[in-house]
Amino acid sequence: MERRTLLKVLLAGPFAAQRVLAAPPANMNGIEELQKQWKSFLPAGAAVPSPAEPLNLTNGEWQKRLPAASYNVMREEGTERAGTSPLNNEKRAGVFACAGCGLPLFTSAMKYDSGTGWPSFFTTIPGVFQTKKDFYLVYPRTEYHCIRCGGHHGHLFDDGPPPTGLRYCNNGVALRFIPKDGSSA
Ligand SMILES: [Zn+2]
Repeated sequence: MERRTLLKVLLAGPFAAQRVLAAPPANMNGIEELQKQWKSFLPAGAAVPSPAEPLNLTNGEWQKRLPAASYNVMREEGTERAGTSPLNNEKRAGVFACAGCGLPLFTSAMKYDSGTGWPSFFTTIPGVFQTKKDFYLVYPRTEYHCIRCGGHHGHLFDDGPPPTGLRYCNNGVALRFIPKDGSSA
């Protein structure tokens, strides 16, 4: 790498991360199937977002739409302080949806207590995330983003429980819990 380019990369640091735009899944044929699956996870009568309709808003629009803590995590790739999310202790049956766009991401059956201080899941509702590598902590980590709105949710690790061995370490402020009984969370 040319020296000036290297210097530029070093100076830019974490802010050099590319912006992740929401994108429809690569396999457009699977869209109806995916939407059917998403629908099966939502309460009856709830609007089902289409994977073919990404939600791309400007930073200003996101700022208006999201509370400051959610904006920091979802649009600036921040991380909430461990142990601060009320969702750590959420044990009711229901669905965890994206705080940015309402896409259902996890169910309560996918959640487990990782002891890390962040809501943790060993798998996801199919097709809801795209991933990219970041280098914030020097070594590469896999971060994942909502497929519909591009919002940053957390990082994926391989120290989760069976059957997947995966841990989706999710920021609570990026989630909205919808209890199965229909009452508001
Ligand atoms: Zn979203």
